[in-house]
Amino acid sequence: MYYKYETHLHTSESSACASSTAAELVRKYKEEGYTGVFITDHFYNGNTSVPRDLPWEQWVDRYYQSYENALEEGKKVGLDVFFGIEWGAGNADFLTYGIDKRWLINHPEIKDMPAHEYIKQVKRSGGMVIHAHPFREEEYIHSFTLVPRYIDGIEIINASNRLPEFNERAKIFAEWYDLPVTAGSDTHNTTGRYYGGGIVTDFRLETEDDYITAVKERKIVKLLDKFGTI
Ligand SMILES: [Zn+2]
Ligand SMILES: [Zn+2]
Repeated sequence: MYYKYETHLHTSESSACASSTAAELVRKYKEEGYTGVFITDHFYNGNTSVPRDLPWEQWVDRYYQSYENALEEGKKVGLDVFFGIEWGAGNADFLTYGIDKRWLINHPEIKDMPAHEYIKQVKRSGGMVIHAHPFREEEYIHSFTLVPRYIDGIEIINASNRLPEFNERAKIFAEWYDLPVTAGSDTHNTTGRYYGGGIVTDFRLETEDDYITAVKERKIVKLLDKFGTI
């Protein structure tokens, strides 16, 4: 028995660059045969669509709404929904799992911290930080920040990467530092830019912590590329 999960997904409720709602994406992933998805919208220091002038607690509340919408739809259609964030350092993005709304409300300082300090902070609370698409090159990326001594793992397949060498370089990076690896689609809508990436496990994830264990103990059975074949 295999279970397929999306680990990197954006919704129009919280990411300015996304154009499908959490509920639309949940229905699409169910149709595509996934067991579950992690909602990882761009955080305060990334391309968020939640107004930054809101007081912090209200900002977090609005940001978290996409996950809640996904969770509600997931219960209706039978798709497991988990929470994560994509924390941005300008020239590096860090997928973060194992933290929740309460933790975000209690840690407003994370919105303007250097990457290595942020990662240390998350790990002190039992969370996990994965460097997303570390070698992606686009017009908006002028340099890379690499923090191999701090991260828990590297996204070596990002199905939205424009060129295959961006993933190949990420794989070599992970091998150099002997770091655990993950895969994700970085999907922003249900049509056009829909990709079939993610991970496969041979046990069902019950919580975000199960995913953390699967990554750290290298129990992921398969990393999926954009064709999504198990
Ligand atoms: Zn985006
Ligand atoms: Zn992303």
